[in-house]
Amino acid sequence: MNKPKLLLHICCATCAAYVLKRLQDDFDVIAYYYNPNIYPDEEYKKRFVEAKKYCLENEIPFIEEVPDQEMWFALTKGHELDPERGERCTICYRIRLEKTAVYAKDNNYEYFGTDLSISPHKDAKRLNEIGQELALEYGLKHLSADFKKQDGFKKAMDISKCEGFYRQDYCGCKYSLEQRNK
Ligand code: SF4
Repeated sequence: MNKPKLLLHICCATCAAYVLKRLQDDFDVIAYYYNPNIYPDEEYKKRFVEAKKYCLENEIPFIEEVPDQEMWFALTKGHELDPERGERCTICYRIRLEKTAVYAKDNNYEYFGTDLSISPHKDAKRLNEIGQELALEYGLKHLSADFKKQDGFKKAMDISKCEGFYRQDYCGCKYSLEQRNK
């Protein structure tokens, strides 16, 4: 039976591995790495290389979209001091989800979604609202989810430990790094 094609935005191996495993029975999943938020470059490379390696080792198609960091900084200007889950994060979710939706549309994927809701720091309701808006705009289906539920976060951490993945201690952007360092 042909499974529907899902373009899944992923942010790092720790978040992606469990979500990919969970979705593979129901979807033909393609991993899409687009994260212009991640700062600095060394951190970007670390997360990117590990996510790509995991996907290739597990025969999951992996696409990297070149991160447009200038655009990310321009769109989040004025929100440098927002707390995590605030308005800056809403903008950041939308930037990443919209790029995913555009790629899905241009390449005839039926579904798009993201692994981001696996994190207890991410607002699944807001992510799903943005996803639904974009689905309407681009004529796609959005995979609404809250992957942290049903012990999802714990299972993701177990896989991460078992695989020996790098575990970052800040969300990803310059401002979350500065907030961590305070
Ligand atoms: S804290 Fe995380 S989600 Fe929020 S803006 Fe920064 S990188 Fe994006």
